[in-house]
Amino acid sequence: MVSADSELSKTRAVPLIFANPACVHHLSPVHLAYFETAPEKAPAIRSAMRILKGMKYFLVTYGCQMNQSDAERIAAVLEELGFEKTENEAEANILGVVACSVRQTSINRVYGRIVAWNERRDRERVITFVSGCILDRDRKKFAKLYDLRFSIEELPQLPGLLATYGVPFVPRHSLASDNERTDYWKIAPLCGSEVQAWIPIQNGCNRFCAYCAVPYTRGREVSRDAREILDEISRLLEQGYRRFTLLGQNVNSYGRDREGSLPVFARLLDDAADIIEKSGREALIHFTSPHPSDMSRDVFEVMRARRAVARQVHLPLQSGDDAVLSRMRRSYTLSRYREIIGWIRELVPEASLFTDIIVGFPGESEAEFENTRLAMEEFQFDMAFVAMYSPRPGTAGSKMKDDVPQAEKNRRLHVLADLLKETAGRRKAGMVGRIERVLVDGIVSPGVYSARTGGLIPVHIADPSAGLAAGMFVDTEITAASPMSLAGRLV
Ligand code: SF4
Repeated sequence: MVSADSELSKTRAVPLIFANPACVHHLSPVHLAYFETAPEKAPAIRSAMRILKGMKYFLVTYGCQMNQSDAERIAAVLEELGFEKTENEAEANILGVVACSVRQTSINRVYGRIVAWNERRDRERVITFVSGCILDRDRKKFAKLYDLRFSIEELPQLPGLLATYGVPFVPRHSLASDNERTDYWKIAPLCGSEVQAWIPIQNGCNRFCAYCAVPYTRGREVSRDAREILDEISRLLEQGYRRFTLLGQNVNSYGRDREGSLPVFARLLDDAADIIEKSGREALIHFTSPHPSDMSRDVFEVMRARRAVARQVHLPLQSGDDAVLSRMRRSYTLSRYREIIGWIRELVPEASLFTDIIVGFPGESEAEFENTRLAMEEFQFDMAFVAMYSPRPGTAGSKMKDDVPQAEKNRRLHVLADLLKETAGRRKAGMVGRIERVLVDGIVSPGVYSARTGGLIPVHIADPSAGLAAGMFVDTEITAASPMSLAGRLV
């Protein structure tokens, strides 16, 4: 059952009857299963099913990998109901958005979409829905704008909600269990890539960093059952996926909410690597994003011991100044961060290092910013995602004076971007001449391939005679480098 304060809602209960006179039977596994279990109701359902032929859905996703992962499960539910995916929103019967309230620019786009969709809905029969990371303030406004809105935990109930709009639906088997918040993880995702699989291992966050909306949009941390995670990796490995990314807002605090019943993060990483290595297949496991305060040395010991764990660490720094870190409520200091980098350089010196940095957090002085610049110089990141601070409603940061002028935030961002070009460029230049084993992501054009090293550095391979395919691992000699990517030739 949906709890009383559930955000699941249907705000426009206007029955929407799909009508397509030219259609014939179109039965999805959901409906076929129904005929097996309830044959007496088959005629009514068969009649309803006729109308689904050729119905399409359009789904747009904003935000991080976790939202992409959620979108893959939403797509799986819609396709199981019999809808086909379309990239052309003009021909879609169901229009959905996975929203991100973490950045104002993303949420503005969500509002922009629904204005256009509602104009269309005034003329045609379409259903709109919104899911994803949504702040309370936006949630209330969306209730008036979208037909349906649901949190990702409520995804198993989407077919029932669509049924009230005339979309035929018959439950194949109930997903309801003792823990509804984790049922959606049982839905097999429809991966958006042939090679990369996002594996959510946890949802929500307990940390309440001052600038971040995630604890308000996704709630407190809930860890997924370890067996379910490992089974999903096993199944996707069989299906041909070769890069697995364990996802969590605070990925390395995995298991703490189920203490005693689950292994901690390093153990989970080890078990996942074990599955891959014992399968005899080549594949890599990444994870994102860890919190420095929850990081332990054993994670890098597993990375060193296991060839299936990719040599890549994304460790958000956010600021190189202790006073700013404290105002951000990040609960670590620069010296703690330095200690973790020390473990990485000692145990897996070949690992690439990615980070996130925010410039212009409230009160960030020139001297405090300079400490971040110095930290960036010291840690020599391979990649840094630098963002200008903007307040999100309801967070601790939003109660502070946003006093760094926009032009100054912009300047600081460019200082760090220029520095990253230098440091990352130097590190990549040092890779020229090395042999790197890379995973082919796809074919850019005939004879031209995109690939990535185990450290997630993009590698461009141009070889008309190579005959490569997505999902292949190949050895390449790195022949050229730019700050953000490499070029290689097969060896
Ligand atoms: S650790 Fe901080 S930044 Fe990361 S999701 Fe949690 S609150 Fe947000």
